[in-house]
Amino acid sequence: MSEDLNTRVRRWRRELHGIPETAFEEHATAAYVAAVLEELGFAVARGIGGTGVVGSLTRGKAGRAVGLRAELDALPIDEVSGRAHGSRHAGRMHACGHDGHMAMVLGAAAELAANGGWDGALRVIFQPAEEPGRGAQAMVDDGVFERFPVDALYGLHNLPGMPPGHLHTRAGAIMASEDNFEIVVVGRGGHAASPHLVIDPLVVGAEIVLALQTVVARNVDPLKPAVLSCTEFHTDGARNAIPGQVRITGDTRSFDPEVQRLLERRIRELSEGIAAAHGAMCTVTYTHEFAPTINDERCARVAGEAAVTALGADRVDAECAPIMPSEDFGVFARYVPACFSFIGNGTVEGEGGTPLHSRSYDANDDVLAAGVAFYGAVVRAELAPLVTGPE
Ligand SMILES: [Zn+2]
Ligand SMILES: [Zn+2]
Repeated sequence: MSEDLNTRVRRWRRELHGIPETAFEEHATAAYVAAVLEELGFAVARGIGGTGVVGSLTRGKAGRAVGLRAELDALPIDEVSGRAHGSRHAGRMHACGHDGHMAMVLGAAAELAANGGWDGALRVIFQPAEEPGRGAQAMVDDGVFERFPVDALYGLHNLPGMPPGHLHTRAGAIMASEDNFEIVVVGRGGHAASPHLVIDPLVVGAEIVLALQTVVARNVDPLKPAVLSCTEFHTDGARNAIPGQVRITGDTRSFDPEVQRLLERRIRELSEGIAAAHGAMCTVTYTHEFAPTINDERCARVAGEAAVTALGADRVDAECAPIMPSEDFGVFARYVPACFSFIGNGTVEGEGGTPLHSRSYDANDDVLAAGVAFYGAVVRAELAPLVTGPE
């Protein structure tokens, strides 16, 4: 990456960091990336799935298209940093490094537009609302892949705790699904001194919480990872009154849609069965928040090889372990062959090692060039120019 481009990419990152906006309200951010893309010669479509932006640039006659994806949104967090480039929007902050991801994709767009070496369509996709896991589906529902088809889609996330500029990826599941559940048990409340006259939903709820601990331990294949956590337990009771109702909420993670279905089924069976045994009523609401992120085998190979080309073999792990957090990229990966990777943000506190979603987190500007180089190598691998013989 030329010195000039490196300076521009850092400037983009810091300017985007200053104007964080949350889910589906990324108007200034979307306008910013759209303006940069237009200056680079991309055809820009705005307002896809809300505030989403897609830039397209076509070279040569080849019919293949490859997409690079970044996220527009920030978090409802108050930044404490004292940095000159800190958030100028009170209560909002790029605490997940999406500013860095946007700058990397813009940098790759600039580098690929300037230096060529590829034939086909390059599409850069900036999605809204990654944090609540709603933006990818909104773009898909708005026809993003009908209007801007891609043969392969790539994305990455920075990871504090990983050496700066290292790249990890893997074929298959790389990030977990997230589902949420709410169990409402309705009994019959009454005086704390007259338990024989009530149906105590608190005791029923406690039994349900304990029974749910058997799902991962006794129903899920031990070779398939899963987490089931109850996270809240509310009653409408008072100190001396047995409640009429309890509400239990929780969160599950898994990589395999079959495990996801099993978790939901067992939560329902145990909750409804235990409630019925005590004469209580029970309703279970189970919602899918994030799809698991499943990397296509061929795309993961392309990403791994491109990373070695761009960064050197000693900085690449193409068979990394999956992690339990979730990512909205998983929705895109259900519709098109795709690969998601992790790029190290740094291991030292204050130099990229501060955890994501922390009030003092910052994307590491020294890692941007590695992301740009990786994306450039991916696109050139996917869109290698056709070699035509003499006519
Ligand atoms: Zn985040
Ligand atoms: Zn993020």
